[in-house]
Amino acid sequence: MDLTFKCHSDTPEEYYDCFMKGLKERNPGEPEFHQAVAEVSKSVIPFIFDHPKYIKGQILERLSEPDRLVSFRVCWEDDEGNIRTNRGFRVQFSNTIGPYKGGLRFHPSVNQSVLKFLGFEQIFKNSLTGLPIGAGKGGANFDPKGKSDAEIMRFCQSFMIELYRHIGEDVDVPAGDIGVGGREISYMFGMYKRISNQFTGSLTGKGIEYGGSLIREEATGYGLTYFAENMLNHQSDGLKGRRCLVSGAGNVAQYAVEKLIEKEARVLSISDSGGMLHVPDGITSELLEEIKEFKKAGKRLRDFKATGCQYHEGKEPWSIEADLAFPSATQNEIDLEDAKTLIKSGVKGVFEGANMPSTNEAINFFNDKNILFGPAKAANAGGVAVSSLEMSQNNIGLSWEREKVDCELQGIMKDIHQTCVKYGEKKDKVCYITGANIGGFVRVADAMLSFGIV
Ligand code: NDP
Repeated sequence: MDLTFKCHSDTPEEYYDCFMKGLKERNPGEPEFHQAVAEVSKSVIPFIFDHPKYIKGQILERLSEPDRLVSFRVCWEDDEGNIRTNRGFRVQFSNTIGPYKGGLRFHPSVNQSVLKFLGFEQIFKNSLTGLPIGAGKGGANFDPKGKSDAEIMRFCQSFMIELYRHIGEDVDVPAGDIGVGGREISYMFGMYKRISNQFTGSLTGKGIEYGGSLIREEATGYGLTYFAENMLNHQSDGLKGRRCLVSGAGNVAQYAVEKLIEKEARVLSISDSGGMLHVPDGITSELLEEIKEFKKAGKRLRDFKATGCQYHEGKEPWSIEADLAFPSATQNEIDLEDAKTLIKSGVKGVFEGANMPSTNEAINFFNDKNILFGPAKAANAGGVAVSSLEMSQNNIGLSWEREKVDCELQGIMKDIHQTCVKYGEKKDKVCYITGANIGGFVRVADAMLSFGIV
């Protein structure tokens, strides 16, 4: 199908309707992808109306079509000797400003739509970091829950036997995401190294012993907290003493909680796919360490017992009275009803740790209510930023100290904040959604224009 749909519209609204109609026709049955593109286009289309070179260059139309998408069979044997088959993917969305870069997700909900939304978001996020990284995303509809270590290893190895031919340090450098942490990256790197006979930085999130970067594990959660702090400081406010709600209990959530505690905020909750843990007096560093160990062992929060903690099965944290919220579990965890609940709970600021945790209806509601809103592509960019620093260290054959990487991360989050202010400030008010979308778009769009029609 031709991608140019004669959107010779007189207004940005008409252009948006025409563009989204074409996108939905070309990508049927992909609601998450439609949602992510709609969110970006809402900000970018008015901007390109003021800068027609981007319309003439068909930048938005070209950017919303991935460079390529590979889908493959992943066969593996479980501990009972049964043959199991999953579907693996890699979406290589754009290598305009660097090699494809983005995580791998292992979760039963993974499909083409979810990975295309994640890969599309990654374009703008990676551009915002100011670093030379393009955009990709991948994974499989494999559920790591309840699998033995040996099963995880066999799955990762089988997955890499196909993926290896599509990646490489200058081509595509995957990292972790939901269900893919240090253990999975290690198994995949081991297999990559064996079949390619090369020791190169073809994955990030690697173990420190074999080319990983200090702070990579912490980077998304720490970066989220730094970004929130920048936003609050811009309003002459801060994190100290603020009551915070965090959802999720994985990589992003754990290190967001760690940094929030360090900043003397009071974290009242975390959650997992079973329910929510409410800690009215605030999570302490000691309690967080216990929770980390517990989750590392693959256990559910419902079985976590400690004084001062109340577990609520099937519940999210949004009804707890608080000042700030950090949704850090998964996409669409905050719908319009949740957004209303959050505001009733007194929340004045929402900072997205997960990718697209808020539906577009929830975001519109936050905007109407003047809630300080930090969108994922800016707020959670710390993870990919440190992945890029891992690539730099691999390239020069050096390992930087913890303080240096942390200092770089803080500088990058500050710069992203400034970019958001530059493109999103209007009448003394910053719309971080507009700022992040346009700030991310301009860099990639200008590079695309300079390449000509490729
Ligand atoms: P993890 O797998 O480490 O943790 C995910 C957490 O969210 C777990 O506690 C999990 O519960 C919970 N969760 C997952 N799916 C659901 C669901 N459908 N409903 C309720 N809870 C759910 O993943 P990460 O922390 O790495 O990722 C979390 C989010 O952050 C994702 O959106 C990811 O794309 C995004 N992100 C991650 C980055 C990273 O560096 N890791 C970088 C940028 C964004 P349970 O423990 O029960 O499985």
